[in-house]
Formats: sequence, C-alpha cells, structure tokens
Amino acid sequence: MRILLVEDEHRISAYIKRGLEESGYAVDAVFNGRDALDWAEATPYDLIILDIMLPEKDGLTVCREFRQRGDRTPVLMLTARDAIDDRVKGLDAGADDYLVKPFAMKELLARLRALSRRGSEQSKSPLITFDDLSLDTRTREVRRGETLIYLAAKEYAVLECLLRDPERVLTRTQIAEHVWNYDSFNQSNVVDVYIRNLRRKLDDPFEQKLIQTVRGVGYRLSLK
Ligand code: CA
Repeated sequence: MRILLVEDEHRISAYIKRGLEESGYAVDAVFNGRDALDWAEATPYDLIILDIMLPEKDGLTVCREFRQRGDRTPVLMLTARDAIDDRVKGLDAGADDYLVKPFAMKELLARLRALSRRGSEQSKSPLITFDDLSLDTRTREVRRGETLIYLAAKEYAVLECLLRDPERVLTRTQIAEHVWNYDSFNQSNVVDVYIRNLRRKLDDPFEQKLIQTVRGVGYRLSLK
C-alpha cells in the first residue's frame, strides 16, 4: 500500500513516515498543497493523509480539488485539537475520516486499515482471502490453510497488492507503484525478484499454485 503524506511540519511528517514504513507502507511525503495535487495526479495512491493547515493551498481546498477531478482515493484528514469546526469542514470537503493531532501511531494505523477496507467486499473483516490463502491486515499474518508463512515486509506488500484484486492481471509497474515509494523504486526487475520469493514460500510447498505469470503482461492470483 502506497500513501501520500501531506504535512508541512517536518518533525511530524518524519515521525508519521517512519511509523508507516515500519508497518510496511510505502510513503511519499510532500509539504504543501500544490505538491499534493501534482503528486496525486501522477501516482495511483492507495491512501492520502492530508493535514489541514498547509502552505500554498490548505488541506480543505486540496481535498475539494481531488474530488472535483474525480479522484476517489480515501483521504484521512489531520486536524488541530482546537479546531473542531475543521472536522466537519473536512468531511464536507470530501475527506473520509479525520484524526485529531496529536495522535498515537497505533490509532493512525487502525484508521488507515479501516479506510483501505472501505468499499471492498470484505469490508468488515481484516482478513483478505483467496482460495486457502489468507492475509490478516491487522496482525500481518499470512497463511495457506493452517500453515503460517513468514514474509519480509515488501513480499507482504506485493502479495497484498495481488490479493486485493485477484484474477486481475497486474503489470510490474502497477505492482511497483503500490509497493515502493518514489525514492526507493529504480530497478524494473525488482518485482520479478519478489514474485520469485513469494512463489518459493507460498506456492512451492503446495499442490495448488496461486501466482500466475501472464507472459508479456505481468502477474495475477489465479487457480488456473
Ligand atoms: Ca500543518
């Protein structure tokens, strides 16, 4: 899952970015409203964290402009404790949820998990499943049947990306865009490397293979 973080206070931005990255998210941090609009237009983010008080363009204006151009990416707004009106204004501007600063990282992570589930069929459960494969977004445990499978953070992220859209073929670029941030993605074969690792852990020990290569296009989860 890749997140656009829009927060002009560098200390808070660094704290949030570190916490999210430790939880396996890829994060691009920008520090004003204008950059937020540019980056969100260029990249298919899974979630956007948007502070209200921002230079150039404030968060409410940015959120409204996202929605006006048809961007449905879930937005979590950050508001100051003494600005209760902002919460209402934020929701009116098209934000999906808000969080009052200061907040605990645990709370932020829980809100983001809830937002990323919204609109999906399995919205009530932290579990995403395909055949006997299950991924628990709360505990980050991956299983086939009862067997617990240990994945590195980016292996988990690649799998989550495939699992959120099973049967659909995703190109290497589409996968990479949801797993790495702008600074860390630079080799085109990196997706293949992670797919190879996932196959070794998820498919090799089992009769039913789940990860399918679609030649010349990319990868998908499929029982074929
Ligand atoms: Ca701010």
